[in-house]
Amino acid sequence: MRYEGTIYRPPGERHSYLLQVTVGCSHNACTFCGMYKDKVFHVRDMADILEDIRMAKAYYGDVTRVFLCDGDAIGMETEDLLRILRALYEAFPSLTKVGVYAGPRSTLSKTPEELRALRVAGLTRAYLGVETGSDALLKQIGKGVDASQMLQAGTMLREAGLDLWAMVLLGLAGSGTGLVHARDTAELINRMKPRHLSLLTLVLEPGTKLYADWRQGKFVPCTPEEILREVRYLVANLTVDPLHFTCDHASNYLPLKGTLGEERERFLAALDAALEGKRRIRPENSRRV
Ligand code: SF4
Repeated sequence: MRYEGTIYRPPGERHSYLLQVTVGCSHNACTFCGMYKDKVFHVRDMADILEDIRMAKAYYGDVTRVFLCDGDAIGMETEDLLRILRALYEAFPSLTKVGVYAGPRSTLSKTPEELRALRVAGLTRAYLGVETGSDALLKQIGKGVDASQMLQAGTMLREAGLDLWAMVLLGLAGSGTGLVHARDTAELINRMKPRHLSLLTLVLEPGTKLYADWRQGKFVPCTPEEILREVRYLVANLTVDPLHFTCDHASNYLPLKGTLGEERERFLAALDAALEGKRRIRPENSRRV
């Protein structure tokens, strides 16, 4: 259990054993993201990864869940990922879930057969940073794919049998254009059909291009009201059913969590109350990445 640099994992993986198989993100170019700025992307040595699994076995005995770090670990060679999955399932008899961050470009570099082989070998969940369904905004933030490629990546993961968890970033379009971002995002998510969707809200991080743009007056952040309206648009217009919906990250103004098909009216009522000032929202200074 040796780690290089700061380790990030999705909130849903808080009970997972974190196995670092790559360091950093192979893309590392999104204008809003400061997670891996201090790391040069590389795949860890296989001998070290297998040694880490042996160390985890000695320390934990058995685990039920594993998350493969860092960003975009799915970008590893498929044969190497298969070898890691075999070693994990041999080491941990109770293991049932293995998750990974899946960058869209790396996902598209794999064939459907490779993704299916990974699923059969026990890779169970993929987290895809969709961020937005807007072509223009995807280009602006340097995501490296357009909306149709993002849709294709998500669809490939889902069709391979992976439990697809999409993540969207509210406020990414800046003040004044958030509803276009929300409209295009609702359309993309409705076509992608993930089983889970997390909405996070932009927090400007020093060291990122977007932070520099803000300091130079080139990017104007959304107001809390604009963010709440983006959430409201998505809640009202997402048709994937059932959809495990979370908007309770530390970056969000109003925590919402549940199954969207069933709880749409409750979410809308909470959002309307917040928009009318009848419900308290998280103060700006306590929002975190
Ligand atoms: S948002 Fe994801 S793909 Fe973009 S730089 Fe950060 S970790 Fe890499």
